[in-house]
Amino acid sequence: SGARVRRAQNKRLPQYLERGVDVKFSDVAGLGKIRLELEEIVKFFTHGEMYRRRGVKIPGGILLCGPPGVGKTLLAKAVAGEAGVNFFSISASQFVEIYVGVGASRVRALYQEARENAPSVVFIDELDAVGRERGLIKGSGGQERDATLNQLLVCLDGFEGRGEVITIASTNRPDILDPALVRPGRFDRKIYIPKPGLIGRIEILKVHARKKPMAEDVDYMAVASMTDGMVGAELANIIEVAAINMMRDSRTEITTDDLLQAAQMEERGMLDRKERSSETWKQVAINEAAMAVVAVNFPDLKNIEFVTIAPRAGRELGYVRVKMDSVKFNQGMLTRQSLLDHITVQLAPRAADELWFGSGQLSTIWAETADNARSAARTFVLGGLSEKYHGMSNFWVSDRINEIDSEAMQIVNSCYERAKEILEQNRTLMDALVNELVEKKSLTKQEFFHLVELHGSLKPMPPSI
Ligand code: ADP
Repeated sequence: SGARVRRAQNKRLPQYLERGVDVKFSDVAGLGKIRLELEEIVKFFTHGEMYRRRGVKIPGGILLCGPPGVGKTLLAKAVAGEAGVNFFSISASQFVEIYVGVGASRVRALYQEARENAPSVVFIDELDAVGRERGLIKGSGGQERDATLNQLLVCLDGFEGRGEVITIASTNRPDILDPALVRPGRFDRKIYIPKPGLIGRIEILKVHARKKPMAEDVDYMAVASMTDGMVGAELANIIEVAAINMMRDSRTEITTDDLLQAAQMEERGMLDRKERSSETWKQVAINEAAMAVVAVNFPDLKNIEFVTIAPRAGRELGYVRVKMDSVKFNQGMLTRQSLLDHITVQLAPRAADELWFGSGQLSTIWAETADNARSAARTFVLGGLSEKYHGMSNFWVSDRINEIDSEAMQIVNSCYERAKEILEQNRTLMDALVNELVEKKSLTKQEFFHLVELHGSLKPMPPSI
């Protein structure tokens, strides 16, 4: 222990680079005139010199505005794909996630990578999660967001070779963005992407039908007519579900009926998604309670500020906010142990799912945190922090990718066992927390620690602040 987080962060493999992005404008349907605007952005890359010579200012940032699922991410990828440049992406809700102080350093790392691998597109999903007008949010959550937002502003301003790195951000709420973000030279260009109309829906269905065995006489108009109000993501899903219908009946072609049935299911799903069932509230509660129960056992993660299952800006589920010692974090004084603890916390939802619902059940609820755990474990090994590869931070990675993955797998497995053990010892606490969360939706620090004192089997010390 005593090894430093810094080293893990300084690894060579860019963390935010999406490899193999091969999207073209032809993959995005129903754009109409918007396409012209996006083609211009591609030209900033391909004809950058020409723009500069003629004194045309290349925008630093482009804001794609519109509801979820209309293809904003897809479009950003298509810009990178058409221009043939690297694509870096991050979701702004990740900036404001769990640890105080992490947001700003993630922004810095993101832009450093993008610059080192220029030309590149930096894509920031759900910008409003971090870019809300300052001062609107009270309390330490607000301060954290301010630090992150300030860092983002610095990075947006920081380019001399404009046109080498272009930032594209998506938001559904351009109206609540901090005015500083939309000032000239920053996100000074807004493109609105509305929900598709009838013709747009037909085009989108057809794009997704390209790779599927469609019956000759499919009536796209019929499907488009009954999917009023749906976005590209939902239409793409209809094609997938229809294909599954076909497979189930061992047929070889997708018919209009398959599509209509799938559309009906999608419609029902759309309504269900508006209201959470009590079962879903409970699942989310188990998810968040598990993270809190495991975290409270670890010295660097136990300062839990609140636990919530209410969906917040950009987060499907709830979240657990841990206040971290930002001095410790910034100076790289986090121990190797606390990184392992972090991985363990991220695996808690998966472990809780196994304990409470029995293993083998697929759940999308813990998919994201399990993913965090896997990538953190990889970072851990790449940073030379694992016992086996101790100190080997600079070895040439691509030769040993399998070794690294299997070592990361082992770390994940042992952290998973640890998470399970802690949860098993704290079943009473878990039950109490889940009940309270379902009832109240959010627990304050005091309420949380009160329950920990009453029911926690390890009785960890409450935070000193
Ligand atoms: P957003 O970023 O606006 O939330 P996404 O780009 O993530 O939406 O869309 C999710 C998926 O839905 C895409 O990967 C694509 O398969 C499909 N999709 C959305 N809009 C379109 C579109 N205009 N044309 C084709 N596919 C689309």
